Amino acid sequence: MLGPVTTGRPTRARSHRRPRSRTLRMLLALVAVAVVLGVAVVVVPMLRPAGPRPLFQMPVTCGETWQLSTYPGHDDYDVDFFPTEGEAWGRPVLASYAGTVTVAGINGSLGGRTPENPDGPRGRGGGYWVKIDHGGKWETQYLHLLEPPLVTVGQKVAQGDQIGRLGSTGNSGAPHLHYEQRRGWEKVETHFDGTPSGITTDEREQILRRTSNNCPAVS
Ligand SMILES: [Zn+2]
Repeated sequence: MLGPVTTGRPTRARSHRRPRSRTLRMLLALVAVAVVLGVAVVVVPMLRPAGPRPLFQMPVTCGETWQLSTYPGHDDYDVDFFPTEGEAWGRPVLASYAGTVTVAGINGSLGGRTPENPDGPRGRGGGYWVKIDHGGKWETQYLHLLEPPLVTVGQKVAQGDQIGRLGSTGNSGAPHLHYEQRRGWEKVETHFDGTPSGITTDEREQILRRTSNNCPAVS
């Protein structure tokens, strides 16, 4: 066996590195802790599977028949609600299911379409809108409301609570309610009273009619 070999190369190269200060080491440790916490708080819930689908109801008054529709360029799964009878402006918009309001404000810009001036300047985006978190990663969205929502962020709502009035704010051609159901961050086919709506694509125009069963609970 050979003994230790001396190569003649300097062996203390590492000692030339400037020693890290104590402060820097502590800072790095804090950053590491923050990263681990961030992963725990943000990523872990993202990986958790969604809960079962809540028994969503149509976002309109119990017993009323409404037109559910979509058109090319809308977006898959998005549903526009128009009443089949009576004035659309100002109709109550109801929570599809119990939950907590996570958004109640303006998306994009309002524009100037009102009952008095229905062909006023078109706004951008969703106009006055509401988003409700139903737990289990399920949420619903309600767009183009006439006026500031009747609910505020953090408010708990029950199924059937009125959250706003139907309007035409934002990018809206005529007074209607644009409505979405989401699981996680994905839009999914809307279901009402346990039955799928059948609106799954915006490749073609689709118009159907359904009657709302968003009725007060019988006690
Ligand atoms: Zn729409």
